[in-house]
Amino acid sequence: MINVLFAATPENWERYAPHLQVAFAALNLHVNLQTEFAPEQVDYIVYAPNSAVQDFTPYTGCKAVLNLWAGVENVVQNPTLTQPLARMVDPGMTRGMVEWVSGHVMRHHLGMDRHILGQNGTWESHVPPLAEDRRVTILGLGELGTACARTLSHLGFPVTGWSRNPKSINGMTCLHGQDGLGEALSRADILVLLLPQTAATENTLNAETLALMPHGAFIVNPGRGPLIDDGALLAALNSGQIAHATLDVFRVEPLPPEHPFWAHPHVTVTPHIASETRAKTATRVIAENILRGETGEPFLHLVNRNAGY
Ligand code: NDP
Repeated sequence: MINVLFAATPENWERYAPHLQVAFAALNLHVNLQTEFAPEQVDYIVYAPNSAVQDFTPYTGCKAVLNLWAGVENVVQNPTLTQPLARMVDPGMTRGMVEWVSGHVMRHHLGMDRHILGQNGTWESHVPPLAEDRRVTILGLGELGTACARTLSHLGFPVTGWSRNPKSINGMTCLHGQDGLGEALSRADILVLLLPQTAATENTLNAETLALMPHGAFIVNPGRGPLIDDGALLAALNSGQIAHATLDVFRVEPLPPEHPFWAHPHVTVTPHIASETRAKTATRVIAENILRGETGEPFLHLVNRNAGY
């Protein structure tokens, strides 16, 4: 019997436990899944960083911590975590992010607000340009960034992607490292941020880098709040350098009611809903990783502790 500790909120237990049982059975894994164990008996921890488990020291037999979320910024620095840490890569979450990003990119590309908000009896003919005449840059070419880049590329947008390491993806321009950032931003009529939150990515968008973007560009940020210097973004929005920012993530969440983003006419706030882990598909990934642990295969989606993602 494999002992799996589910360390997340009670609501998540309701959502995930039935799907986990199905996923374990599908792989013929004999699992004792519980929310409490004597720590030394635990083989794997299915983990949400907001759970009560913050000290991993007593879990002396634990073979891996399997994160329920894609972002690991709230667990990766935990000094008590010596076990392998896998982040969540879930086809359902990826699908959701592709849909959310595509929708918000299309909103800005087609200028939908002009008609949704401007029903004032004036017949004004503004035909939107074709996607091929609107350049999109995606910062972060990981699981989510690459999936979004492919879909936007299929829609006809010339896509540029930017990552830490060199990459080559058919149909798009791939740039990397600090040297590639300026060029990536200079092509960003619409910019999508899908970087993780690490020491190296904080304030990727600041006064200097925002000035490298084309005048009147759009920003869509479903990545993490600290990727952007809020004050620099507000200044760029006020000057017209940035036409509009659609922001799903913030330095402080929930975004405080007094934050200037809420009232800004050129900011759209969405409450961290771009995508989420979907229990049905994510539990298959968790079961697969446990099977790998039991059969001595390398775990999928391991976090690079030095890089922080
Ligand atoms: P991945 O780890 O698969 O990809 C991260 C990408 O960012 C990689 O391409 C990586 O480069 C790049 N990167 C990391 N550091 C740097 C750097 N210093 N300079 C340049 N590029 C860098 O992550 P995912 O795609 O799965 O997820 C991305 C983020 O999306 C998550 O960390 C999370 O913050 C956010 N997210 C938000 C959600 C929401 O609802 N708003 C839902 C889910 C995730 P390389 O390829 O070279 O390693």
